[in-house]
Amino acid sequence: MAIDPRRTLPAVERVVALLGGLPQPMLVDCAREAVDAARELVEHGEAVTLDTVVADAAARVAHRRAEQLRRVVNATGVLLHTNLGRAPLGANAIREVADVAGGYSNLEYRMDSGERGSRHDHAGSLLARACGADAGIVVNNNAAAVLLSLGALARERSVIVSRGELVEIGGGFRVPEIMAESGCRLVEVGTTNRTRIADYERAVGPDTALLLKVHASNYRMVGFVESTPVDELARLGPPVMVDAGSGLLDETTPWLDHRPPWLRDEPGVRQAIEAGASLVTFSGDKLLGGPQAGIIVGTKEAVATIARHPLARAMRADKLTLALLQSVTSAYLSGDATQIPLWRMATTPVDDLRARAEVIARAIPGLEVVDTEAVAGGGSLPGLTIPSIGVAVTVADPDALRARLREREVIARVDEGLLVCDLRTVEPEDDGLLAEALRASCG
Ligand SMILES: *Cc1c(COP(=O)(O)O)cnc(C)c1O
Repeated sequence: MAIDPRRTLPAVERVVALLGGLPQPMLVDCAREAVDAARELVEHGEAVTLDTVVADAAARVAHRRAEQLRRVVNATGVLLHTNLGRAPLGANAIREVADVAGGYSNLEYRMDSGERGSRHDHAGSLLARACGADAGIVVNNNAAAVLLSLGALARERSVIVSRGELVEIGGGFRVPEIMAESGCRLVEVGTTNRTRIADYERAVGPDTALLLKVHASNYRMVGFVESTPVDELARLGPPVMVDAGSGLLDETTPWLDHRPPWLRDEPGVRQAIEAGASLVTFSGDKLLGGPQAGIIVGTKEAVATIARHPLARAMRADKLTLALLQSVTSAYLSGDATQIPLWRMATTPVDDLRARAEVIARAIPGLEVVDTEAVAGGGSLPGLTIPSIGVAVTVADPDALRARLREREVIARVDEGLLVCDLRTVEPEDDGLLAEALRASCG
């Protein structure tokens, strides 16, 4: 009588006992999948051993571990890489959030009177102070901030927008769709490339709730273009709302020694408020360099109306976000951007990057130091590049090398057949890790 070849299959428990690195139920899933795959092989007349089944299960464990959320080294040169979590947070912010997160907090509690307080009293009012507005609140992200603001201030009424600003930001954020979702009526004025004050003026009527200006963010129009600045719009009467998107807090960048040329004409939140905007919304994790959040600053009245809207409850920011924003905003207010990794990385002198690149390149044969161009990313500053330095390798198959680096937590880029690790987005303390990954992957 023939022996059933399936008898040679190891028991799932036996395979599990040889695995590690994930919670038990996930190890069992991986072991079961490997045993099932082995059974198929056996049924097709192939031989399996305990070792091959365990190796298959271990590969499945490794794959699942790789999919878990974890830290990576961003060597792409894209500072606000949306897929890599946009802005990294500084040590101060992490320390402060850890303190708040590790215990109870006065999130909605007034320490002076012992009465119920508001979560907008902390980061929201600090952010308002930092950009010269009367009041501020924080919601989950800027998409939510825009939706909520329009819903609270313009539902079933008209909102006037330039045709040149009916943009798609990416990730499914299209201005006309968000407006429709909020229940307001979109009134388009002007043309794609030119919208004048007279275009807005003609459209203003008793039904007008807001004049909306949207920062084009991820694209740039050049040539025969004209748009109407906030101060002119503010003179027309209806309140002006600005979706500033990337959220450069202040055009004059008082937290830096000098304004970097690559910021070019990026508009500031403070300047929009000064020009008379009643409301400005922006992201927490773009040029602010903080956590994912949507920040709304403006007049007391507008912000209070928004805070009272039922959707505000559905979109409110959590205590971790608020603690991080409080720390980041304090850094701006004290004029110390060295605490904000985004600005520290963005303004590191090229010579410093070159010195680090030379150390890495010296240690690994085949590596060369190259001039590169980093970008802000995150839908901000399109077409503008930040001079940078990288280490590069010429290999037959740069994509394969890029994949090997990914196995070691390093995300590189391929430029014209060259594998490049841009140092502008790499924290100096990660240089060793980067060098080790390159050494292991190039060898
Ligand atoms: C990025 C951006 C958004 C969306 O912001 P999130 O914080 O990613 O939700 C909305 N409007 C503009 C103009 C943007 O640039």
